[in-house]
Amino acid sequence: MNNYCSNLEHKVNIMDSIIPFPCKQEVNDEHLSGIAKCLSCKHEWIYVAPVGTVWLECPACTLLMGRLAGPVDRIGYSWECNCGNELFKITPKEIYCICCGVPYNEN
Ligand SMILES: [Zn+2]
Ligand SMILES: [Zn+2]
Repeated sequence: MNNYCSNLEHKVNIMDSIIPFPCKQEVNDEHLSGIAKCLSCKHEWIYVAPVGTVWLECPACTLLMGRLAGPVDRIGYSWECNCGNELFKITPKEIYCICCGVPYNEN
């Protein structure tokens, strides 16, 4: 059984290796990347997968036992505070940097 998407554009070149990934919906063009770890054989790899993916096929043992091993990072642009942090807290009033407390400012 082949769980991989046949669309060649869905194979992304990272660190000189071609990494295919299961594709649930062709229309979903938002993707995540990060470190995945296989719960079965403990293999770790860098994955690229559609947003919403929970389980990944392990490239080492081929079992569907791979999990995202840390915070996900959606591919594309992201905001960065002047202090260098990329994580923010969202409240009904404002968005602010969780490292230095400075509010997000569109300017
Ligand atoms: Zn494995
Ligand atoms: Zn900051």
